[in-house]
Amino acid sequence: MTDLPAQETSPTFLGMPSFQHAAEAALADTQQRRNLAHATATIRAKRAAAVGEVDGWEDLRLAGAAAKDEALHHLPHYLEQLEAALTARGATVHWARDADEANQVVVDLARAKATDEVVKVKSMATQEIELNEALEAAGIAAWETDLAELIVQLGEDRPSHILVPAIHRNRAEIREIFARRMGAVGRAAPDDLTDEPARLAEAARLHLREKFLRARVAVTGANFAVAETGTLVVVESEGNGRMCLTLPETLITVVGIEKVLPTFADLSTMLQLLPRSSTGERMNPYTSMWTGVTPGDGPQEVHVVLLDNGRSRVLADEAGREALRCIRCSACLNVCPVYERTGGHAYGSVYPGPIGAVLNPLLRGTSSEVDRSLPYASSLCGACFEACPVRIDIPSLLVRLRTQVVDEASGRSAEAASMKAAAWVFGDHRRLEAAQRAATLGGRLLGDRTIRSLPGLGAWTQARDVPTPPTETFRQWWARTHGDDEGDLDDARGQPVVEEQDLGGAGPHTRQEGS
Ligand code: SF4
Repeated sequence: MTDLPAQETSPTFLGMPSFQHAAEAALADTQQRRNLAHATATIRAKRAAAVGEVDGWEDLRLAGAAAKDEALHHLPHYLEQLEAALTARGATVHWARDADEANQVVVDLARAKATDEVVKVKSMATQEIELNEALEAAGIAAWETDLAELIVQLGEDRPSHILVPAIHRNRAEIREIFARRMGAVGRAAPDDLTDEPARLAEAARLHLREKFLRARVAVTGANFAVAETGTLVVVESEGNGRMCLTLPETLITVVGIEKVLPTFADLSTMLQLLPRSSTGERMNPYTSMWTGVTPGDGPQEVHVVLLDNGRSRVLADEAGREALRCIRCSACLNVCPVYERTGGHAYGSVYPGPIGAVLNPLLRGTSSEVDRSLPYASSLCGACFEACPVRIDIPSLLVRLRTQVVDEASGRSAEAASMKAAAWVFGDHRRLEAAQRAATLGGRLLGDRTIRSLPGLGAWTQARDVPTPPTETFRQWWARTHGDDEGDLDDARGQPVVEEQDLGGAGPHTRQEGS
């Protein structure tokens, strides 16, 4: 493991329960489960159709992974190239080692413009560093302008999906939030607001318009940053991002250092992979690109904050590094059976779902209960890898992180103790046979009863029952049905197949012809 600084766990998520405990509460919320099941099934179907149209999808995935790997393997070079290109085109570049440094840069820039509010367009990096809270502490209001972000902000909620942060809310809940909260922070929702999508969108548009027209400073994220040209890119569906990027005088972009792409040509690969994987569209409705300052057009002051916040640590981890390829498309969330049932809040971070389960422990280390629990937040079914447009092998990373968690417990955890005990039992056939006989005795005593939990296995049995032990071992069954002792079974070892007629066609393990 590297000794580079880990990302700090954000105060918002500090004290969150482990995934397994948070998931229990989420599973009890049937309304949320319905909302999630409906939304993820819809996006999944759209994505499958959009991806199915592309003949060379696998080649595109390989090209996307290769472009990101090239950038990550030579990151210092491409970041310096990006800085030089941005500076040459009139932008100012700031380097931020962590959340505090990045927040301070943005607060200072907003103060320098003597403003007490900024408009924002969806940016996971600014959520990661809790920029809104830092601005609020400095007396500056930050208004989210992405519709889903607006719902989350007005509802004093937390995002639960990368692409659809309010995925856990249905239309009726959104109507209630708009009606209750909009008036307190700006233009109120109309009295006769219904939960029709068009009416909700209209209420949001009118509420946001006055903020767009008033704002002098905008804060944005970026999906990609092209080193070759110094071009920053935001892809979105609503056009609110474009309003933020063009109307205010000052534009501040906070971008993680892993977002860099070597060349402009790489962008064409990414812009094919991203929309199909995220919203199931051939092309996203709005793609905004800007390269420094254009005199007389758009913001005349452009700042770019290049954010590390634990990314160097992940980069130094040769196996974990591939997680930095992530382009935040959210395809892995939408196919994950665990995410679909628990939602995003249970992951204790702005990065939920399968990618959150690997990225958070990589960025923050595994010292907290939440981060230690995340590698287990998966069935390891592999659907996330199949869906990932940049081929991040999430299941393998999860297994590796599980190993790390167990190793770090170094024999102190119940799991480590039981593995040690199992190794001792399996190390000698007499011990194994004795343990099997004890288990069958337990099975006979239990009968049909189900074991809901076992002392010492509280965590393991929290979400599953213990299998009832069989009343008879295979060896005992063999001896009983063949009138033979177990020694004959040992003699039979190595013979390829037990002849059908030997079992009279009636043994429990005989197979039907042709099956
Ligand atoms: S890990 Fe892959 S599938 Fe998941 S959000 Fe990132 S790029 Fe998309």
